[in-house]
Amino acid sequence: MQQMHDAVIVGGGPAGASCALWLARLGLSPLLVEAGPRLGGLANDNPFADDWIAVLPGVTGQQVAANIDTSVRAAGVPLRLETRVTGVLPCKGGIQATLTGLDGSQTQVRGRTLVIASGVRAKGLPDHPPGATWPGVLIGPGSPIVAQDYSGLSVAVLGGGDNAFENYVYVRNRGARAVHLYARSVRAQQQWVTRAGREGVRIGPYQVDPVRRSVDGQPYDLILVFYGWEPQAAFADGLRLARDDRGYIRTDVATAETSVPDIYAVGEVAHRMHPCVVTSLADGVVAAKAIQRRWERAGE
Ligand SMILES: Cc1cc2nc3c(=O)[nH]c(=O)nc-3n(C[C@H](O)[C@H](O)[C@H](O)COP(=O)(O)OP(=O)(O)OC[C@H]3O[C@@H](n4cnc5c(N)ncnc54)[C@H](O)[C@@H]3O)c2cc1C
Repeated sequence: MQQMHDAVIVGGGPAGASCALWLARLGLSPLLVEAGPRLGGLANDNPFADDWIAVLPGVTGQQVAANIDTSVRAAGVPLRLETRVTGVLPCKGGIQATLTGLDGSQTQVRGRTLVIASGVRAKGLPDHPPGATWPGVLIGPGSPIVAQDYSGLSVAVLGGGDNAFENYVYVRNRGARAVHLYARSVRAQQQWVTRAGREGVRIGPYQVDPVRRSVDGQPYDLILVFYGWEPQAAFADGLRLARDDRGYIRTDVATAETSVPDIYAVGEVAHRMHPCVVTSLADGVVAAKAIQRRWERAGE
């Protein structure tokens, strides 16, 4: 007989990991499924100091991710790493999730509840398939931007938000021959706009050709794209959860429950609070406590 977990949690970033840890410590039986090789989610992509967590001074984002991994393992949470949830369906007494491994092999697991904590991914170029890549075109912030050698290169940075302006300033200080920022409009915080200055910043419409690696016909060695984020939870499309106009999953503010009973969504995929490690951790706690109360009430 297949085990019925109290919760199948999709995504081992701060939100999902925190939910799993709390459920385990509360005496319930979660299963945490993570597509990547390690827990910590987007924090793994942040090699810089994370000065935003009041109880963890002096750590990098990658250390935050490693700490999450250590804490979840110490709580004895069963893990399925390098395993992607590729589908979920209602079943008797809960939900059934299809897990797909790196080799394509599939297994089914069942849970009395489902917690969607699959986060966001950086938006790619519009008019191209999601996930499309081209040589010399880097999508989104984080480790690949840091690992890149910019010496002597010409670089176009695309986007009008904080990430675009911050990375424009970053690349300018890394020995590039020429760096231009293209923003259709400016949404970045004033501090980044001021630091970017005006020289090299082009505001207004522009055309990108990722194959020729050019912007408005001007060729570049590198194009860096910072077009913001989008939720990633296509595996749950069949559940017809209520979403907002940008595709984020709508949830009850007090419980993190979605429009479908016993299905919860936490962290960035639900865009419930200002997105960061601390709010995502907190969101996992909210869902775990709501799930505990749910089953205690059911047992009364
Ligand atoms: C470069 C960078 C710097 C940042 N700096 C900071 C900072 O200094 N301080 C701060 O507080 N925040 C920072 N953030 C933001 C912070 O990392 C996020 O807000 C936080 O990680 C969101 O947590 P989450 O659990 O909601 O989602 P995520 O961290 O995105 O985790 C989601 C997880 O779900 C997994 N997943 C997705 N789909 C599936 C599936 N179908 N099956 C199984 N697993 C799946 C993904 O692999 C991922 O591990 C930074 C982010 C970036 C990118």
